[in-house]
Amino acid sequence: MNNKLVYTPGPTEVRENVRLARSIATTNPDLDIDFFEFYKNTCDKIGKIINTKNDVYILSGEGILGLEAACASLTEEGDRVLVIDNGIFGKGFDEFVKMYGGEVAYFSREYTKDIKTKELEEFLKKDSNFKYATLVHCDTPTGVLNNLSEICHLLKKYGILTVVDSVAGMIGEELNVDDWKVDIALGGSQKAISAPAGLTIVSISDEAKCVIRNRKTPIIGFYCNLGIWENYYRNKWFPYTMPISDIMGLDKAIDNILEEGIGNVLIRHKKIANAVRKSIKEYGLNLYLEEGYSNTVTVVEIPSNIGAKKLTDNLLKKYNLILATSLGNYSDKVIRIGHMGENARVEKLIPVLNFIDESLRYLGFEGNGRLVELFNKYYDEVKLVIK
Ligand SMILES: *Cc1c(COP(=O)(O)O)cnc(C)c1O
Repeated sequence: MNNKLVYTPGPTEVRENVRLARSIATTNPDLDIDFFEFYKNTCDKIGKIINTKNDVYILSGEGILGLEAACASLTEEGDRVLVIDNGIFGKGFDEFVKMYGGEVAYFSREYTKDIKTKELEEFLKKDSNFKYATLVHCDTPTGVLNNLSEICHLLKKYGILTVVDSVAGMIGEELNVDDWKVDIALGGSQKAISAPAGLTIVSISDEAKCVIRNRKTPIIGFYCNLGIWENYYRNKWFPYTMPISDIMGLDKAIDNILEEGIGNVLIRHKKIANAVRKSIKEYGLNLYLEEGYSNTVTVVEIPSNIGAKKLTDNLLKKYNLILATSLGNYSDKVIRIGHMGENARVEKLIPVLNFIDESLRYLGFEGNGRLVELFNKYYDEVKLVIK
């Protein structure tokens, strides 16, 4: 199970020092005051990276927990919520809103483009009576990247709280929580952060905290109640025993990012994504998206006479490589190259591109040249070809 090459848009590769950090002897996280300091310090470091002075929490549960917790904590019976839908995760917020009694209104657009702020503004001019809006930073099944800065500023102009799923954006894409006015920003440990799956990251603004505090009805549920975290540090009290080893691993992964420098990490993603997109096109395949490309994942159409599933099956059988197709209708149409976090490294990507190239050739597709050579042409500073 453990010797496969995994190049999916999360979970991503976990560096050895992160794996080792999870094996260090632990303390009692409920009783040892030092752990509260350690936990808060990890949260503060994350806050620094995503440019916020808001409170940051680490919750025990994979990224989906954050999406549900934000909806559970903000929604009261009958609240109107705007679901901004240009992707599968974007649309998927509606389930959580409804589950907690909210009334969903959609702003739905094509899944091949990012949200156009002007169109959203036209919509809001007619109807803007929403308690909050949900939005995805990078919607991973298609790889679309939304302009959070523009969209969140616009929503706030209309007095709408902003809830952003940045699970597949955070660390791989710029994220300026405070400047961009993101009330609740959500991340996950297993995407660009490159720690194992199992933790959610939440940053929450004072305004969102105030809305939660002033609810007329209690929040349904305990694990999804963001309100119970508000005074955890002052009271030295966690709602439940923290998964200390997971958090020690996350802390190391965050240190890895700080050591490299978030600016360098973002450039690394940009350079790789740019070269992947250009080389794929020149090679003769189409990108799924027309506009709004994320630097964390590239979604590539596979000719229907081959089929994405046949390609990924072949990659697994011949090269022990796990590559993802996509969800729903896309499952046999596209493959996703997940170049995020520790996977956004040339030396890891080169063999993957070679395997894709070889498998396509084997299945009868003739590309315009070698994919890796095309990639190298665009990735100007690095000329690494594995023969
Ligand atoms: C990965 C991801 C999540 C978490 O979802 P899982 O399906 O449990 O991995 C949430 N939102 C986005 C945009 C993601 O990419």
